[in-house]
Amino acid sequence: MKRILVTGGSGFLGSWLCEKLLEKGNEVICVDNFYTGAKRNIYHLLDHPRFELIRHDVTFPLYVECDEIYNLACPASPIHYQRDPAQTVKTCVHGAINMLGLAKRVNAKILQASTSEVYGDPAVHPQVEEYWGNVNPIGMRSCYDEGKRCAETLFNCYHMQNNTRIKIIRIFNTYGPRMHPHDGRVVSNFILQALQNQDITIYGDGSQTRSFCYRDDLIDGMMRLMATGDDVTGPINVGNPGEFTILQLAENVIDLTNSKSKIIRMPLPSDDPKQRKPDITKAEKVLNWHPTTPLREGLTRTIEYFDGLLKSDPEFCRGEE
Ligand code: NAD
Ligand code: UDP
Repeated sequence: MKRILVTGGSGFLGSWLCEKLLEKGNEVICVDNFYTGAKRNIYHLLDHPRFELIRHDVTFPLYVECDEIYNLACPASPIHYQRDPAQTVKTCVHGAINMLGLAKRVNAKILQASTSEVYGDPAVHPQVEEYWGNVNPIGMRSCYDEGKRCAETLFNCYHMQNNTRIKIIRIFNTYGPRMHPHDGRVVSNFILQALQNQDITIYGDGSQTRSFCYRDDLIDGMMRLMATGDDVTGPINVGNPGEFTILQLAENVIDLTNSKSKIIRMPLPSDDPKQRKPDITKAEKVLNWHPTTPLREGLTRTIEYFDGLLKSDPEFCRGEE
């Protein structure tokens, strides 16, 4: 049995990771300041004898004993990370320093949840790990993009200077049950709009592309990376290489929900990447990992989740909680 620390453990991905780590027989310490996470995501774990919750902000040092650290603490959706951009940078940078300091002190393995956003608006397609990216350092997305890039740098520095056992995963757009209904991400927005027969809001002309990975596939890839030997540090792309335009996503959601929603166009936010698709050759080779959930199957499960949530907790879906 390992003692595993998950920062951002009450968020969309973190809560699912905590659950999977408990299922494997580990002890889990979930650390979160509830900035975007919700207690409802981990209520069902609170009585578990091997689960512990600590309310803590990772921009401050933390002293616990553990064998592994998954560093997921950071708002992930554009509306959330742009709400307090300086705090987003602090979470990425000070959070990384504090968690790396902890890993160094207790000699824990530490995994950083990095992002495809480190590639910015990519000029290389699909994105390979060797590509250095095309990021605007002072744009709307820079607090997140540059924060995550600096966190990768810090991880690499600790590895080179102190031999800290690091793993960097570059996560591409991931969706699934437990996404926050109001995080403004495209999958949750479209599904909630379609289920309520509201207009589907496409930003720009909808020709921009994204690759959507189902939550379970992503968490499997993340746990496989943590299980690799110390020579594997990453970065490694983990995502679904199926590439869809945002218009195609909207059409799929309308079809799967039998919705009467109409598609409307809204202004494209600045620096919105035009295309995104992971090259996952490295993940296939090093982790023996490949996503198994096709988009329509993952969407169907996510639609079921939001349909249930709209019925059981309409206030939460309207953002009144
Ligand atoms: P999320 O917003 O649901 O979860 C993030 C969690 O971190 C929340 O519970 C939040 O309360 C917590 N948090 C934020 N700031 C904190 C702080 N200073 N101290 C402690 N806790 C803090 O987002 P998610 O989709 O679950 O993303 C998890 C991680 O994966 C993030 O680091 C994100 O950057 C990364 N990621 C996610 C995606 C995706 O598509 N979901 C893509 C790329 C990278
Ligand atoms: N998007 C959209 N309508 C929405 C929400 C998002 O057209 O209601 C677009 C957004 O402009 C972007 C894509 O969908 O091109 C993915 O957006 P999201 O915020 O989910 O993720 P990211 O841009 O960080 O990949």
